[in-house]
Amino acid sequence: MSEPIVLDGKALAKETRKTLKKEIAALQESNPNAKPILATILVGDDPASATYVKMKQTSCNKVGMESLKVEMPKETTTAQLLAKINELNADEAVRGILLQHPVPKQIDERACFDAIALEKDVDGVTCLGFGKMAMGETVYGSATPQGIMSLIDYYKIDLKGKDVVVVGRSPILGKPLAMMMLNKHATVTICHSRTENLADKVQRADVVVGAVGIPRFIKADWIKDGAVIIDAGYHPAENCGDVDLENAIAKCSAYTPVPGGVGPMTIATLIAQTVDSAKKHYG
Ligand code: NAP
Repeated sequence: MSEPIVLDGKALAKETRKTLKKEIAALQESNPNAKPILATILVGDDPASATYVKMKQTSCNKVGMESLKVEMPKETTTAQLLAKINELNADEAVRGILLQHPVPKQIDERACFDAIALEKDVDGVTCLGFGKMAMGETVYGSATPQGIMSLIDYYKIDLKGKDVVVVGRSPILGKPLAMMMLNKHATVTICHSRTENLADKVQRADVVVGAVGIPRFIKADWIKDGAVIIDAGYHPAENCGDVDLENAIAKCSAYTPVPGGVGPMTIATLIAQTVDSAKKHYG
């Protein structure tokens, strides 16, 4: 079998940032008042969340866009968070709002996500945005699955008529990705913790997506020869994803490396959607 194609998210994210930098510069040249901001909201003091938010802010700065850091204490109530989101919705300079998941348990996260104005929902977390995306309307998709779709598109992987198995059905990843792939005419099976005979289902897949959150959960001998592997998982301690890539690479036709595959595309997509929101507002 020939060498598999590496779906290089790191390289594509870099290329995307270059384009976005030019777009931001052009926007500001044509309208000096256009200073688009991505507002990031971090509630509580979870170190992993703080790191993710920082990475998103750094990425904004790399393309010449401002970020507004909103930090709220871990005792924050739903009402207080909703008030903050409404304030950011009303702020003209804020063109995107990111509420870092997860928020502390006492907060109604769904209500807070859904309070984000649709045109500022650049992380694709609202129910309204999900519904519109599922119906094939133009809307900002959830950042990780949208980033995966950009990679698939860039490498010209045709999903039409293909059997796709998505392992994982979270609202931010498995579920929206399944809809996006269905919209590209794939035949999609969504698997989860109650799925029976998972290995058999994965074995039939032309495209396998690992979105489980368990290191090397999808075994190499489940992968059909020539399948495309999209591994959304990342487990820094084990330096691996949700698929046993070391052993599966030899069987597949293309794969996303871990790290350097899906991860970099998530942030690039978030920034791209914020720039798009700014262009629509000021353009
Ligand atoms: P999540 O909310 O924990 O969802 C995990 C999903 O996996 C659930 O749908 C769950 O099923 C399913 N699952 C759990 N155990 C299973 C089993 N034994 N067999 C089959 N399915 C099982 O996780 P997530 O937020 O979607 O994240 C998934 C992975 O993607 C994680 O590794 C995460 O780090 C990674 N991720 C990466 C990025 C990025 O930017 N690179 C972004 C987001 C997530 P049930 O629904 O039945 O519980």
